[in-house]
Amino acid sequence: MTQRIPIVENILNANDRLAEENRARLEAAGVFSINIIASPGAGKTSLIEQTLPRLKDKLRVATVDGDIATSLDSDRAAAAGAGAAIQINTGGDCHLDAVMLRGALDQLDLTQFDLLIVENVGNLICPANFKLGTHKTVLVASIPEGDDKPYKYPGTYRGVDALIVNKIDLLPYIPFKMDYFQRGVRALNPNVAAFPLSCVTGEGLDAWINWLTQHATHNMI
Ligand code: MG
Ligand code: ZN
Repeated sequence: MTQRIPIVENILNANDRLAEENRARLEAAGVFSINIIASPGAGKTSLIEQTLPRLKDKLRVATVDGDIATSLDSDRAAAAGAGAAIQINTGGDCHLDAVMLRGALDQLDLTQFDLLIVENVGNLICPANFKLGTHKTVLVASIPEGDDKPYKYPGTYRGVDALIVNKIDLLPYIPFKMDYFQRGVRALNPNVAAFPLSCVTGEGLDAWINWLTQHATHNMI
């Protein structure tokens, strides 16, 4: 048992090295990339579905969807207009890692794309610990999950570059104190770019699309 911690550290170090290789491949091809993490059902795939049509004629987008099983999410991304949609089935693993993303990159001609959107496995804990080599991490929170999530998952909220607060159309029906939620976020991550929005009504999506487009077109990495 005394070997446990060093082994875990070695795995993470090896993963970080591969993540750096992935990053170098993406940058050599001029591809800006985001890693979307969230708990199951927060709306990662819905966000991608709403985002892709709004980027049409502006950016060439590829998606990589990680799931324990099925190709349902990459099918949805392809239907929404992704130029390529790669599905990674983790076979039970609850997060993507840099090896898995490398396998997906091998299937893409990166020179044909400007933006790579990676949808991680639905899980609020370990995806935050495994770097993939993407440029920015985007966390999707949602109103039904409750306003206490920043307090319960500080490590996840601390490390992200952008925060989507999805399903704001449900605010009239669910006791969610936005002030309390935002205080928790600010304490952990004062500079995070926050986007309250609804993938159902479309409210708030423009600000998110602007952020993503700005970063992707100017390679703000
Ligand atoms: Mg999904
Ligand atoms: Zn995991």
